[in-house]
Amino acid sequence: MAIKVKFFANFREAVGKEQEDIDGVEDVASLLEELVRKFGERLAEQLYEPRTGKLRDTVHILVNGRGINLLSGLKTGLKDGDIVAIFPPVSGGASFTPEELERYNRQMMIRGFGKEGQRKLKAAHVLVAGLGGLGSPASVYLVAAGVGHLTILDAERVELSNLNRQILHWHLDVGRSKAGSAIEKLFAMNPSVEIDSKLDVITNKNVGALIKDADVVIDGMDNYPTRYLLNEACVRNRVPFVHGAVEGLIGQLATVLPGKGPCLRCIIPREPPMKPAFPVLGPTPGAIGCLQAMEAIKLIVGIGKPLVGQMLFFNGEDMTFDVIEVRRDPNCPVCKGI
Ligand SMILES: [Zn+2]
Repeated sequence: MAIKVKFFANFREAVGKEQEDIDGVEDVASLLEELVRKFGERLAEQLYEPRTGKLRDTVHILVNGRGINLLSGLKTGLKDGDIVAIFPPVSGGASFTPEELERYNRQMMIRGFGKEGQRKLKAAHVLVAGLGGLGSPASVYLVAAGVGHLTILDAERVELSNLNRQILHWHLDVGRSKAGSAIEKLFAMNPSVEIDSKLDVITNKNVGALIKDADVVIDGMDNYPTRYLLNEACVRNRVPFVHGAVEGLIGQLATVLPGKGPCLRCIIPREPPMKPAFPVLGPTPGAIGCLQAMEAIKLIVGIGKPLVGQMLFFNGEDMTFDVIEVRRDPNCPVCKGI
């Protein structure tokens, strides 16, 4: 007699079989260790978070048909003849840990959000291009809200002159990579979010590959040539693109839904003059970056109405928000025919 372990879905793929008999383990924790020893890295990847080594919350385990709590149940004793099933949560079912339900409680109370909205958020992949004044608050709010997978993109290092507005980077981070500095803070904020970084400088050669797996792309850039590259790649790949830009106390925001409204090129056809450095007061990108996260969350969850066909202008000098209508250019070189 031994313990019978049954594998389902991705776990079955990882081990290459439906069932395995295991001897000589006394609890669930040591059973998992033995399985990883036997089946190796592919199974370990399915079971554990790479950074923390904790069990993923997409792992469910039944012992003789009874679910065990993976926070407290790993010491559940096993004996010969027991049947252990390892499977992922079924999509659409409630698959939140008690900790997640508590963490996201206040946003799930929003009308139209609920567990279903949270599940969509958890399944979503957002790319934040640029980890400066806009990308910092946008990433913070996306991670706090529980977006499942965040990719951050910034090849630069933290400079002292960044710190008045790039709130993910702190005094001791000067000289570090922005990606490393950001991941550390974001991960400490919400360890259940998968965060990865790509250090590439965005070029017309790599931009398509960088954005194609994202559900939403956030524009956290400080220059138009790169914004235009992102805009075009998003339009071509039909990925929603949330544009934001700031200068001084003034900011702007618009959401591009490819095929459903104007793209950034329709709205701003020519690159504004490039400045080597321009003034920025931290709360300006703070406000716009938060609103970018808001747009991304709305799009993913399916609540509210995105800022499509409209552009928001924020002026911190007199505290005004204006929304103007913007239209598609039928001859736009980027989105014509999309
Ligand atoms: Zn266009």
